[in-house]
Amino acid sequence: MSEPIALVTGGSRGIGAAVARRLNSSGHRVIVASRTGAVPADVDVAGSIAMDVADPESIDSALAEVAEKFGTIGVLVANAGITRDNLLMRMSDSDIDDVLDTNLAGSIRLCRGVTRGMLRAKSGRIVLVSSVVGMLGSAGQVNYAASKAGLIGLARSLARELGSRGITANVVAPGFVTTDMTADLDDSRRTEILSAIPLGRYAAVDEVAGVVDFLAGPDAGYITGAVIPVDGGLGMGH
Ligand code: NAP
Repeated sequence: MSEPIALVTGGSRGIGAAVARRLNSSGHRVIVASRTGAVPADVDVAGSIAMDVADPESIDSALAEVAEKFGTIGVLVANAGITRDNLLMRMSDSDIDDVLDTNLAGSIRLCRGVTRGMLRAKSGRIVLVSSVVGMLGSAGQVNYAASKAGLIGLARSLARELGSRGITANVVAPGFVTTDMTADLDDSRRTEILSAIPLGRYAAVDEVAGVVDFLAGPDAGYITGAVIPVDGGLGMGH
């Protein structure tokens, strides 16, 4: 049997690139997707595709291309995400729409797009990359936190809809991870964040990727609807 096909959105850099590397090492044929369709330099992938997850037509055409070139997607890692932080009073409509369309609506549409093939195959793994702030809340991030909380409802509903067909749906909720997304935080905010994290440091991308790889692999066959924190203890109790 050929290796399962794994689609990783936001696979061009950061956490997604690390997930692509790990899934490749664990025997998947990995396709990375991002708006540019770029392939991370040090990652061996089977293919890459340009896909804007905020654009329904782009999702549909990219998924059709993947199906035609590679076949049925067995693992979906919906990882692409953005922030547009501001206090709610100052948050623009586009800050709200862009974040919800990319992080939440895009993930729902991607799940819909891969489900048919997974149902036919009677197996599939869906991993949604959320965030600790989806449960903890975060001042200045109502759009982002709401989008990330929504992924939990998405995964748990999918778990109930699709569980009897051999498809699992789980959430990974990272805390602060060293990537482009957190590179712009100023020193005082960084110090404040580090003081709230029991492990006293940010995560490395590989520490998130390892958990995604586990959820996509054979040892996680009886895990569905779960939210796995990878946050150094920041969100404990949620
Ligand atoms: P990143 O370094 O900023 O990378 C984001 C990735 O998403 C890039 O590959 C980007 O590629 C892609 N992307 C952005 N908008 C897209 C769109 N509309 N369509 C398709 N691809 C898109 O982010 P990261 O830190 O690795 O974060 C990855 C995920 O983890 C996100 O969902 C984020 O919310 C979550 N997360 C991150 C942290 C953290 O501390 N870094 C913590 C918790 C959760 P293009 O720009 O080329 O499209």
